[in-house]
Amino acid sequence: MRLILLGPPGAGKGTQAQRLIERYGIPQLSTGDMLRAAVAAGTDVGKRAQAVMDAGELVSDEIVVGIVDERIEEPDAKKGFVLDGFPRTVPQADALEKMLSEKGLKVDAVIEFQVDEKVLVGRIEKRAAETAAKGLPIRKDDKPEVFLRRLEEFKAATTAVGPYYRERGILHSIDGMAPIDEVTRRIEEILTAAALD
Ligand code: AMP
Repeated sequence: MRLILLGPPGAGKGTQAQRLIERYGIPQLSTGDMLRAAVAAGTDVGKRAQAVMDAGELVSDEIVVGIVDERIEEPDAKKGFVLDGFPRTVPQADALEKMLSEKGLKVDAVIEFQVDEKVLVGRIEKRAAETAAKGLPIRKDDKPEVFLRRLEEFKAATTAVGPYYRERGILHSIDGMAPIDEVTRRIEEILTAAALD
């Protein structure tokens, strides 16, 4: 099963991805996590991405497509994956389609999280507070001003990705503002109806 979770930052994609990996035993491929790991490891990609990420802007399609291309070749991704935070632009969606079709594969379903923007900002503040309470460092890009920039980036670049998959008949929209368990239930319903579970 190859799934995409589509939605703005703070929509709950990461939380739902965690549940999907537990239930279906497929890895979560989060480009944000992969980029943060590259920054922490000080790789070339990390060095090129760091300032852009800290500003809440989008890393180039070329860099992101490159890391996804490598990641889906790893053994644990062979039987499927949940993409979280990718594709964020139509060129990324095109590149994904191409890299999968070269392997005889395709995206099975795209789950679009519909959200209320004002509520999102509150959620992100909560995520930052919870992280701080655990004694962990807060993501620089979760600061309110940078978060708003990420939201603007999403609206500018990623809004076109939903229609891209709607045209292909694999877009499913859900209410991302519903309680977490309810969102999980809706996703499972969609996967069952599409005979993917
Ligand atoms: P996320 O954890 O998904 O919110 O991603 C954190 C940051 O990583 C984003 O604000 C971007 O700077 C960068 N990033 C993650 N995924 C992508 C992507 N698919 N395209 C471009 N930049 C990305």
